[in-house]
Amino acid sequence: MPRRYGPYGGSFVPETLVPALTELEAAWRSARRDPAFRRELARLSSTLGGRPTPLYFARRLTERGGGAQIWLKREDLLHTGAHKFNNALGQGLLTRRMGKPRLIAETGAGQHGVATAMIGSALGLETEVYMGEVDIERQRPNVDRMRLLGARVIPVRSGRRTLKDAINAALRDWITNVRTTHYLLGSAVGPHPYPALVADFQSVIGREIRQQSRRAFGRLPDLAVACVGGGSNAIGTFRPLLRTDVELLGVEAGGRPGSNGAASLSAGRPGILHGSFSYVLQDADGQIADTESISAGLDYPGVGPEHAWLKDTGRARYVAVADRDALRAFHWLARDEGILPALEPSHALYAALREARRRPRTQHIVVTLSGRGDKDLAVVLRASR
Ligand SMILES: *Cc1c(COP(=O)(O)O)cnc(C)c1O
Repeated sequence: MPRRYGPYGGSFVPETLVPALTELEAAWRSARRDPAFRRELARLSSTLGGRPTPLYFARRLTERGGGAQIWLKREDLLHTGAHKFNNALGQGLLTRRMGKPRLIAETGAGQHGVATAMIGSALGLETEVYMGEVDIERQRPNVDRMRLLGARVIPVRSGRRTLKDAINAALRDWITNVRTTHYLLGSAVGPHPYPALVADFQSVIGREIRQQSRRAFGRLPDLAVACVGGGSNAIGTFRPLLRTDVELLGVEAGGRPGSNGAASLSAGRPGILHGSFSYVLQDADGQIADTESISAGLDYPGVGPEHAWLKDTGRARYVAVADRDALRAFHWLARDEGILPALEPSHALYAALREARRRPRTQHIVVTLSGRGDKDLAVVLRASR
């Protein structure tokens, strides 16, 4: 498993966590070679999760663009409504393999918290989820879901009271309870081995895109597009396409006009956050900058280290899309295709449509629709009034 991506990645953590990170890496190394583990992962991916998710041709959205064909990788149809399931299932099974009875997690939009609560329940693990107070307010339905699934939701009142602060709180808990507890980190961020581990579990997205696009239109897509918060659905989409000539486009949250939003790759610079060296939004003194985005799931000042390297090497491009453009794309998909997308992939949809307009009808664009929009209805209704 790569520990570094170019200069990025690594593991900058207190000494108390080193044994747990080593144990986690060892558990995954042995599990991935164990046919029984892989069978169980595949079985639950399909029977509990609903994999494989379909690749859908968005005919009317394509007509709206008037150019390249737009295809949607339907991770929104996965159990609990987002790609987070893939990682929660994988790490949940590893937790059981390590013999730990307790799971903790952080959550922003609440999707990772719901996925963790679900897998905690399905595997019989005690589950506690840290969530910033601001996010608890704006993602209320997911808080209710987590509680109904049997998890305890712990409000985080420090800092900006969003995702970054929830991660800090979860890390503090882990340091105290590391022998009994696995920290089920929700994105391809944090210290080694998390970025590599989470990318492995999410790579099922890109592997299916590879097979399904060959079946659907006889070759690989010309362009793959995914939104980037911490970067897990995007790296899961990109990783299996890295050694092909498919163009890769990551889409960050641009926030409101004149703000940096939460676009770490577009507006940040290299630094250390949550145990990893990568692009970070920071002020002139190197303090972590405040972020803002209409989508809680993208509202994070850091990004996974593999994306930092893909950006520097030019293998992937990254752009930022503003709140109001993501909202426009949300409505386009609802009206054209009968799908209410989450606000996070609405950013990717907007960028994909812009790309489609510049390309001929013979080209194919696959957009990872990372989650469904039910959780965002209140935010969308308020913003669209
Ligand atoms: C959490 C979330 C994201 C952002 O997380 P990544 O790790 O960047 O994928 C994107 N879309 C949805 C629906 C989410 O729930």
